Amino acid sequence: MASKKTKKKATRVKKDVYFFGGGKADGSAGMKNLLGGKGANLAEMAGHPNLRIPVPPGFTITTEVCTYFYKNRGKYPAGLKEKVNAALKKVEAIMSKKFGDPEDPLLVSVRSGARQSMPGMMETVLNIGLTQKTIKGLIRQSGSERFAYDAYRRLITMYSDVVMEKAAGIEPAEGKGIRRQLEKLLEKKKEQKGVKLDTELDGKDLKELCDQYKKKIKQVLKKGFPDDAYKQLWGGIGAVFASWNGKRAIAYRRIENIPAEWGTAVNVQTMVFGNLGDNSATGVAFTRDPGNGDNKFYGEYLINAQGEDVVAGIRTPAPINKNSQSEHNENLVMLSQAMPKMYKQLFGIQKRLEKHYRDMQDIEFTIEDGKLFLLQTRTGKRNGPAAVKMAVDMVREGMINKKEAIKRVKPEQLDELLHPIVDPKGEKANRPLGKGLPAGPGGAKGMIVFDADTAVEWAKKGKKVILVREDTNPEDVEGMRAAQAILTARGGMTSHAALVARGWGKCCVVGCGDLDIDYGKRKVKAHGVALKEGDWLTLNGTKGLVYKGSLPMMDATKENVVLNKFLKICDSVRRMKIRTNADTPEDARRARDFGAEGIGLFRMEHMFYGEGAEKPLFKLRKMILSETPEERRAALKELYPYVKKDIKGTLEAMEGLPVTVRLLDPPLHEFVPHQEGQLRDLAKSLKIHMSELKKRVSLLKESNPMMGHRGVRLGVTYPGITEMSVRAILEAAAELVKAKKKVFPEIMIPVVGIDNELRDQEVVVRRILKEVLKKYKLKSLPVLVGTMIEIPRAALTADRISEVAEFFSFGTNDLTQMGFGFSRDDTGTFLPTYLEKKILPNDPFQTIDQDGIGQLIRCGIERGRKVRPKLKVGICGEHGGDPKSIAFCYKVGMDYVSCSPFRVPIARLAAAQAAIRE
Ligand code: PEP
Ligand code: MG
Repeated sequence: MASKKTKKKATRVKKDVYFFGGGKADGSAGMKNLLGGKGANLAEMAGHPNLRIPVPPGFTITTEVCTYFYKNRGKYPAGLKEKVNAALKKVEAIMSKKFGDPEDPLLVSVRSGARQSMPGMMETVLNIGLTQKTIKGLIRQSGSERFAYDAYRRLITMYSDVVMEKAAGIEPAEGKGIRRQLEKLLEKKKEQKGVKLDTELDGKDLKELCDQYKKKIKQVLKKGFPDDAYKQLWGGIGAVFASWNGKRAIAYRRIENIPAEWGTAVNVQTMVFGNLGDNSATGVAFTRDPGNGDNKFYGEYLINAQGEDVVAGIRTPAPINKNSQSEHNENLVMLSQAMPKMYKQLFGIQKRLEKHYRDMQDIEFTIEDGKLFLLQTRTGKRNGPAAVKMAVDMVREGMINKKEAIKRVKPEQLDELLHPIVDPKGEKANRPLGKGLPAGPGGAKGMIVFDADTAVEWAKKGKKVILVREDTNPEDVEGMRAAQAILTARGGMTSHAALVARGWGKCCVVGCGDLDIDYGKRKVKAHGVALKEGDWLTLNGTKGLVYKGSLPMMDATKENVVLNKFLKICDSVRRMKIRTNADTPEDARRARDFGAEGIGLFRMEHMFYGEGAEKPLFKLRKMILSETPEERRAALKELYPYVKKDIKGTLEAMEGLPVTVRLLDPPLHEFVPHQEGQLRDLAKSLKIHMSELKKRVSLLKESNPMMGHRGVRLGVTYPGITEMSVRAILEAAAELVKAKKKVFPEIMIPVVGIDNELRDQEVVVRRILKEVLKKYKLKSLPVLVGTMIEIPRAALTADRISEVAEFFSFGTNDLTQMGFGFSRDDTGTFLPTYLEKKILPNDPFQTIDQDGIGQLIRCGIERGRKVRPKLKVGICGEHGGDPKSIAFCYKVGMDYVSCSPFRVPIARLAAAQAAIRE
């Protein structure tokens, strides 16, 4: 009785193993969290009535088992063995084969599968179930000794590497790993036989090689390769779970923000062979072109090969159809020609899959002796341009609605469409050094590095690098991330480098066969040109071209028809306005092209920094260093025409849209020159002695300039500055109105913390307005007077401030500075540590700190609108271009966000997504 009870308690109620195959499945696509992406989709393909696609039968061990495994120091939940055995029985029944059967053995693969795809970051073992006994059965069944020993060789290689070395925590020295050592034996064998290709070795050679492999393993790892099917199976399962915490997986998770708690599922699936002869093949395909989004079935395949051969980039894969042809593979036979029946079936399946999932699918298939199997389907990774194109096309095709389309593109992905390209003029003038496949769009340039560690190291020092490799593997991810672009000599559009770069939207050229890389000498040669580490390269990732040196880049974003269509779709659901921060007519025009609906911040002081600013800057300096009211008045008078001209140009460029002009903000000493010559000119112009000028300069010095004499405080102490600025704004507007132009200036007073500061300035503004109306014989001007909310006290006393202010614009740069007490210019010394130690989740100067600064914003809006219900509210700090912050701004009821011109399209999308989420 007692023992029964114990047994009952030990058996897990949870269903740890999910079967799929034979037109049935325990799971479905909705169960990604439990079955991982791969397992859930295998279940869907096998079991969904609309699909019933031929997949090799198998089963998935859940991610919960992985979590259990880690919580219980590598132990499995009770009853797992029985569950696995039961599922294996079902597979055996469908396949009419038995696992471990010496007559006709069932072989399986063991693969990982997390919720979110982590390409190549975890482990796989193929051909499990091959032993001294079963191999005889396989030879008989397949009729090929060569095939059987090739499968055995692959199993021994993978198993010793993944299970016996990596999962066992053995970290061999560089080049001393067991896989490498076995590969050396293979090379030696080929040498002895005088052949080049693996395929030129016969059954006898491979058999001998398998024996050598096993001896080597025993010698190096001090353990024998297991000659038992079930031992192999459990070894494989354990190794896949262990690989969740492998170095590569951890690095990838950190980059992609994947929580460690998710765990991976394990898929055990019947092996099907693409290498059973010329009637067999294997390939990878996308239901649409992942490089540009075109609605064209696209893929690569290899006859008589296993799946890993396609991705490994050792043999050049052939195109499946015409769409997939490129300069590199155009003389290879297409699948549609080689196996027309199979191609037709595959084409039908991919159509059904895309329709079912209503999204582009990335599929893996194998043809075993004239029989097609799908091994995997998943939502395909795509770069920004392809994501936008597909979203727009799928709306037109009626596959998805507008809201779905908007959700399909990540705001950051738009960055890729807004990124620079290599200037075509520069390209014309330079002959490419080489040509490869265009795996990641846009242009990039940087210094050559030959390994991932150097890429990371140099990037840390602020250098721009291009990672140049024969090919990449998952160990290189951190270096790939750090590089501006990736260039490989081998591999196709589905190679590791291409997949990873595409996912990140990084510029990438793969398969550039012109390169001859010498890692040892840290050199690369192409068509007789030799380059060394540190030399510059420029890549055109859209065309796959490689140039020597540093070519000029340009903005590729104008007149992008598809992007504009997509942004129009966004605009149809978006409710929050998008303005821009711009200080020149050119910036204003560019932002308008990007869809800006006004200027949210024109920083008046910026007109004294840029190109051609010497003259106005000199006048400004004179004004700053004036001592008497007369001196200052005279200097302001001289300054006035420059200010008016700049503002007028910008108001004109933004005709019909509001323009918020902010009065002078920064501490005055920022403008004071330090060079003797310039000081002397100023002294001369002010008709004072150098020593007097130096005295005045030193008086402007402040201990805490960010909290010193700046913003509204300048206007309060020197009302003449406000008078001049306001007159410039209003007269510019009046002249434009007289010229029948529609302009909407908004005068913004910065750094206000006390309502009385604003009242003081408002009197000045209203007085000047009256004077200007009189001068231009106008009844009114459509002008608003408002303030920035960037001092915590202003947010807290917003009700009093909104008695005067007609609009609020949150200056979240200063609000974050003052709210945290973090100097915005000095966070470099401590913020990285804060982020590392997770004291803060994000840099609060990039993403609004909703818990703290967010409260000040909510409070400011609430109190402001209590007094003035229609108070216009926006944001003009850097956060206005950050997607997460934009969602917050929408939630708290802002009317608009304002960001730099290049962020405007991103903000349009982020605001649309925020509206949909609501
Ligand atoms: C701000 O403080 O958020 C702001 C926009 O003003 P500035 O960055 O010019 O201080
Ligand atoms: Mg500010």
